[in-house]
Amino acid sequence: MTVGEWVRGQVDDWRTTPRTVLDTAGRSRPNPAYAAAARAASSALRTLAGHLLIPLDQVGPCTTCHAYHHRYGAGGRPLCPTCHTAALARARRRYRRAA
Ligand SMILES: [Zn+2]
Repeated sequence: MTVGEWVRGQVDDWRTTPRTVLDTAGRSRPNPAYAAAARAASSALRTLAGHLLIPLDQVGPCTTCHAYHHRYGAGGRPLCPTCHTAALARARRRYRRAA
């Protein structure tokens, strides 16, 4: 698993954790697990930004596999390195067939 895939998992956990839970009286209460998941996702995104040596606002999900990587700003790409390499290989195969 790459760091980007790990961050995707942390963000997915945060997004799928309910924001509120019902107590025994049926009242809505903030879910403590939601705050914990949000902190874990934020920490994971900051870890990845530090790992890639880029500002946090240039980190984003790959358009194909949703793994987090250097998406925005100078040097940013819509595809993560793995998907970019696969897309290049597909393009080269198509080019060879057409030639
Ligand atoms: Zn990807």
